[in-house]
Amino acid sequence: MSLNYYDLILPVVPKGTFTYTSEHDIPVGSRVKVFFGSRIEHGIVKGKADKIHPDISYKNINEVLDDKPVFPEKYLTMFNKMSNYYQTPLGIAMRGVLAKSILSSERLDVDCDISDKSILLSLSNDQHSVYASLTKIIDSGFSANLLHGITGSGKTEIYIELVKECIKKGKQVIYIVPEISLTPQIVQRLSERLGFSVPVYHSKLSPKRKQKVFWGFNSGCYPLVIGARSALFIPSDNIGLIIVDEEHESSFKQEESPSYQLRDMAVMYADILNVPVVLGSATPSVESYFNALNGKYRYLELNKRFNEKQLPEIKIIDLKTSDIIDNLLSVKLYDKIFEKIKQNEQVLLLLNKKGYSKHLICKKCGTTLQCLNCSIALTYYKKGDYAKCSYCGEIYKFFKCSECGENDFLDFGHGTEKAVEILRELFGDTVIKLDTDSVTSHKKMQSILNDFYSGKYNIMVGTQLIAKGFNFPEVTLVGVLNIDNLLSLPDFRANERAYQLLMQVAGRAGRFIKKGEVFIQTYNPEMPVFQLLNSDSEKFYMEELSRRKEHDYPPFMRMVRIIISDTKEDRAKKTMETISEKINEAKSSETKTLGPSPAPIFKIKNRYRYSFIIKTPNVSRIQVLGRIARENFEVLKKGNMQLKLDVDPYFFM
Ligand SMILES: [Zn+2]
Ligand SMILES: [Zn+2]
Repeated sequence: MSLNYYDLILPVVPKGTFTYTSEHDIPVGSRVKVFFGSRIEHGIVKGKADKIHPDISYKNINEVLDDKPVFPEKYLTMFNKMSNYYQTPLGIAMRGVLAKSILSSERLDVDCDISDKSILLSLSNDQHSVYASLTKIIDSGFSANLLHGITGSGKTEIYIELVKECIKKGKQVIYIVPEISLTPQIVQRLSERLGFSVPVYHSKLSPKRKQKVFWGFNSGCYPLVIGARSALFIPSDNIGLIIVDEEHESSFKQEESPSYQLRDMAVMYADILNVPVVLGSATPSVESYFNALNGKYRYLELNKRFNEKQLPEIKIIDLKTSDIIDNLLSVKLYDKIFEKIKQNEQVLLLLNKKGYSKHLICKKCGTTLQCLNCSIALTYYKKGDYAKCSYCGEIYKFFKCSECGENDFLDFGHGTEKAVEILRELFGDTVIKLDTDSVTSHKKMQSILNDFYSGKYNIMVGTQLIAKGFNFPEVTLVGVLNIDNLLSLPDFRANERAYQLLMQVAGRAGRFIKKGEVFIQTYNPEMPVFQLLNSDSEKFYMEELSRRKEHDYPPFMRMVRIIISDTKEDRAKKTMETISEKINEAKSSETKTLGPSPAPIFKIKNRYRYSFIIKTPNVSRIQVLGRIARENFEVLKKGNMQLKLDVDPYFFM
């Protein structure tokens, strides 16, 4: 019998593929079990081997897990493209998006009796015309569509109609939302509208639940899966539509390898599958807006709120000239809150910092208390009396000043914990907190939301979480206590993020019967972003785009950020310098570079970090320069030094 040679993708070491042999004919996309060294590994057949060396004796494939392939060829094409574009070896890419429990799991027969009990909706005129132009995209090949609908305009209703249309045509839908928005309430609402219990997929599911949804969708039995990033990577050969809601969310960028951007992957995948993709947001990313402007995406707008309510006017309070209570609340905002509570209406307050205080300062010598592993000021938590590093998570129960040894500290700046304490003194027990410290699970979050929704509390204080698309009919006042720290970050997207956050949180006010009001406190009222909040959104995007063009930022340039980190500071520095020299020698004139320089957070988890940035208008240069970085790193690497190549980076600290 003749021997077949196969290239396999295995979720191991930074390498592309491994060649194994088999006497059987194994279809591409099947899962196999092999010995890798002395370990058992599960992998995917990528294809017949590219090259065979006569003097190597290849190992045999132990077992083929599937009688028909699980991963369609188009899926593998997408996978290859992702690995290439994000400069991540196939094995690492696979490990990053497919759970081990899935790769080795037995195929499940999922029972899926889905009958159509869906409820008919009535769409507004505005929604109807958008839907009419979108319904044509189903079954018409690839198209990328940007649905720009202001908060409260009913984007979800449009998605639901599209899902139904697609299912009617016998096709499946992948529907992605940010992980934090996957609340039981949202899933239940969707299930009611669609008339079946919608399967949910995200990283925190138990392996068993994950397997059920994976196989249910893969077999074609579930017509729809709603999920976080990882749901995009459930293979099926019958996908007819991909939806990405809240497409502007920066959490769609994965920080660990492969550091892909989910929105961009969804568009790339839809193109390969030749199906439509719908990206929706009340505040689209500047990149997507730009793609709509230049015709790459179809642009659809919903600019009326469903119930014809006006968006509230946003007013700015200059903290420099205001009387301020406890360094937190201007008298003006205090009066407004007081007035609302008297009428038994509800108030949302945004503060972009968790914990009790921003940092602790030694009373004797003025030194800021820092994490011992990271160059980061520790956040103080009064409940529990400890300080915590927000980067490595290290908790310090007993701490003293690193300079003078004193243990008497002044807490400086306000976090949500301190804000709640102050607000309770001012307004009584009617204050509740929502941030990632108080929300340990979707269930916990839902219970806080329910308490607020039912009117048990009048005031909710929280971080960005409170802006995440929740509906509170009784909220008539939104106050932003302070987001100035967001605007001072060394990040070209800082302005965009602040705009999106402010518009999203403002959109929580007066969504239903009552009129809403929005107040923003700031020490920098002259910042352009505050001037643009009440204008047409078009004005914001055009100004932001011209600023980006002037400074050679995306979407006009592609960016790659290279980080070398090492426990030895000078070794990291020298390696980064050598690699940056090599890149500078090889780069063309249109490519620009910045650095090398110490990263803004110089030390994380005891690793010293040096950063180097490449900006190029030419996508193909990314691969060339990325390869130079990797090849030189392989030669120079010592100890546990690490290289991170971040294509289209979102994190600049
Ligand atoms: Zn001190
Ligand atoms: Zn730390």
